[in-house]
Amino acid sequence: MALPLPSSLSPSKVSAFKNCALAFRFSAIDRLPEPPSEPAMKGTTVHRALELLLADAPDQRTPDRGAAHLQTALDEMRSTPEWEELAPEESTAERFAADTATMLERYFAIEDPRRIEPVGLELMLESEIGGVTVRGIIDRLERDPDGSLVVTDYKTGRTPMQTQEQSRLGGVHFYAFLCNEHFGEIPSRIQLMYLGSEPQIISTTPTEQSVRGLRTRVGAIWSAVERACEHDDFRPKRSALCKWCSYQQFCPAFGGDPAEARALSLQLQAQGPQLDLDIPPLHADNPELQPDGR
Ligand code: SF4
Repeated sequence: MALPLPSSLSPSKVSAFKNCALAFRFSAIDRLPEPPSEPAMKGTTVHRALELLLADAPDQRTPDRGAAHLQTALDEMRSTPEWEELAPEESTAERFAADTATMLERYFAIEDPRRIEPVGLELMLESEIGGVTVRGIIDRLERDPDGSLVVTDYKTGRTPMQTQEQSRLGGVHFYAFLCNEHFGEIPSRIQLMYLGSEPQIISTTPTEQSVRGLRTRVGAIWSAVERACEHDDFRPKRSALCKWCSYQQFCPAFGGDPAEARALSLQLQAQGPQLDLDIPPLHADNPELQPDGR
């Protein structure tokens, strides 16, 4: 029986499909909830603190102000259902706060936020490629002193090795495409700002050719998703990522039955409409991949 198509594609969905089509199906089509992930929640908290900081007037963006915004972000996080489900012990909650404070300190060590001229924070952009809605959330869009657009994506996971940098930068061309669609401009730079143990910024320069390439790649992936849905043919792809996969119990590679996932999905849908939100990155507990808590 054919499966329903996902409502949209995003950078995280595209990379999820490439990593393992079956895990993509469980997440984006069956929409099975994943347990809360502490690394992802830390990422969300730090993103929120930076969003509040960059919304301040430039001269107010001090480390003390950042710490105050982090406290606000932590308070918000502590009132979420995810936090309730995680139910951290007091010592874990203290470590959570300390780890996010460390990430914020690293941010101030690699950038002076007073120099940034944001034109958008947590900016949701969407467009169409080959009949599918594509959307992405840009952490920060700014104007460089020369007037060109710059996209910044905060990453709270581990900094990639040099050999992994290009593959990590692959998804950012999505943002270049969306900026071109909305502002008629290709950003002059897209940067990944890693706030993990070895903080650093890696960046790339998108071009008309890379934006065209993105359009072609996303179109091909959407065609593959359509075919897989039509034939209910999402295959498992075993890799190191399986260790962090929340869906092993339904995966044939681990003795599970995908039909049980479908049954659970239909049961959840019968309990109420599912929100049409972007899925968080799969394997969200993976400290190398966990990028931003969304
Ligand atoms: S356990 Fe591995 S192969 Fe199975 S769905 Fe998850 S990522 Fe894919």
